[in-house]
Amino acid sequence: MRRRRVVDFALRRRGVLAALREGGLSLREVCDADVYLLRAAGFHGVVTETVCPVCRKENLTEVSWVFGDDLGPASGSARGADEIEQLALSHDEFTVHVVEVCRSCSWNHLVESYEVGLTPGTGKRVRRAARELRRHR
Ligand SMILES: [Zn+2]
Repeated sequence: MRRRRVVDFALRRRGVLAALREGGLSLREVCDADVYLLRAAGFHGVVTETVCPVCRKENLTEVSWVFGDDLGPASGSARGADEIEQLALSHDEFTVHVVEVCRSCSWNHLVESYEVGLTPGTGKRVRRAARELRRHR
């Protein structure tokens, strides 16, 4: 699966953490993961090697969210790596937002975004062809 238009948000993340240390931001402002994100972390998250930079109590979990018109109702949902790979084989290009979250203190931040999927306009054809194949098997 080839990732396109990869954007790394490490610099912004460092900025937020620095502002937190210097008192420009409060814990409440940055540790605001909602129930939905925390639940998604439990179901679809991947535990990383990185310890939470805020509370240092546990390792961060990364959750990937998918966004794209061709995804239909799946757009805006959290997905595991295997699911994203499957979606990328049968849908027009879509955006993935990788968010890190601490399930202990609720710190969360966008880590990276990228695009995967088919050339715009081909997803529907590919899915129709796959349905036809299944029907004739
Ligand atoms: Zn934490």
